[in-house]
Parts: sequence; structure tokens; C-alpha cells
Amino acid sequence: MLTTEEKRLRAAEVVRALEEKYPEATCALKYEGDPWKLLVMGRLSAQCTDARVNVVCETLFERFPDARAMADAPIGEIERLVYSCGVYKVKAQNIKEFSRMIAEEFDGRVPDTMEALLTLPGVGRKIANLILGDIYGKPAVVADTHCIRISNRLGLCESKVPEKVERTLSELVAPEKQSDLCHRFVWFGREVCDAKKPRCEECPFRHYGCVIERKEKSHAEKTAR
Ligand code: SF4
Repeated sequence: MLTTEEKRLRAAEVVRALEEKYPEATCALKYEGDPWKLLVMGRLSAQCTDARVNVVCETLFERFPDARAMADAPIGEIERLVYSCGVYKVKAQNIKEFSRMIAEEFDGRVPDTMEALLTLPGVGRKIANLILGDIYGKPAVVADTHCIRISNRLGLCESKVPEKVERTLSELVAPEKQSDLCHRFVWFGREVCDAKKPRCEECPFRHYGCVIERKEKSHAEKTAR
């Protein structure tokens, strides 16, 4: 296991290398700069792909373009529109209710603190950090599946618990780099450090001797040669 100082140095190297590889650290969700849309899309993206959420939201936002319209929308219609994102009943209910809260309790503005964001139904730390980092430019670690897997493999974290990964990375990575690093982890996770078949032979971090779970090990060892 690396010491904290070694982890800090490694984290800085990873940040630099991924900045070079992915100069544009963009969010895969197409929310058009609208905080409320990002909130809705973040909620829909649980157990669903970003690509599916982007498609679904084209129609959803055409029909209900803002928090007030979504709050007043018939629940059955929201359910029908978000059906293909999975867990549609709960997601529709959450979206309608947090849209009402934003319209009526937050003056139409998506809150900018972790504490206030967590009062919105269906909004956990992952979505809250997405809002804090992307919309408000605050230090924020979005501990999604890519972030958790890659930071463990790189030896930066030794836990799969999102809150622990969030805390660890927020101590290792410079505050102003955290949010963009998480976006880059998503691109890197899709293109190189795949969950099942990591392409270690083309990875800039192959000399780190990554920690890979047993079921993935034989493939990674073959490709690392
Ligand atoms: S060497 Fe392999 S496991 Fe390690 S970060 Fe690169 S792709 Fe992922």
C-alpha cells in the first residue's frame, strides 16, 4: 500500500496525464448549462446510461422545460416519459417533488450547498457533488462507478464505499482539479480502464502495477505483457 504522500504524488501524475489525454473535461449529460436540468438528468442516470438519459430528456424537457412546469406535470406523464431509464416510478416522483421544492422553497434556484441539496428527494452525495462541481465550480468528487473502480485500481483508495472514496480523493487531489478529474475518469473508464476488460497495454499508468479484482486479473495480466 502506498503512503499518503506517495498517493498524493500519484494523484497529481494521474491528473496531469488525464488532462493531456482529455483536454475537454465535459460532463456526458447534455444539460445545456441549466442546473435544474442537470439535477433531473443526474437523478435519471442512476442505473441507466448517460446516452439513454440524453435521449429521454430531449422529449422530457420539450414537454416540461423548467421546475415549475415539471412540478405541475401529471405524474403519469412523467412516468411514461422516463420509463426507459428504469426505476421509473420513484424517479418520476422524485423529479416532480424536487422540482416543486426548487420552484416554491428555493426561489426557482438549485441550491449551492451540500446540506441544502441533500434535502431534495432522490438527491444523494453523487448528484449533489455533480451540481457543486459543474454548476457552482466548487471542489467536488463525484464518486460514481468509474471513479471508484479506477481510483482503487490505481492504488489511490482501498474502499468501494462511495463516501470513503469521495473523502480520500478530496484529500489527495487539489480542490480545483477534483470535479474535472471525475469527468475524465468517466471517459478514461469507457475507453481504457474498462470494468471487465481494462486495456492495460495502451494505458499510461501500466507501470503502477494496478490492483485488479481477481475475476479481471487474468485478462489484465495477459494484456499488460
Ligand atoms: S493499467 Fe490497466 S487497470 Fe491500471 S489504470 Fe490502466 S487500464 Fe486500468
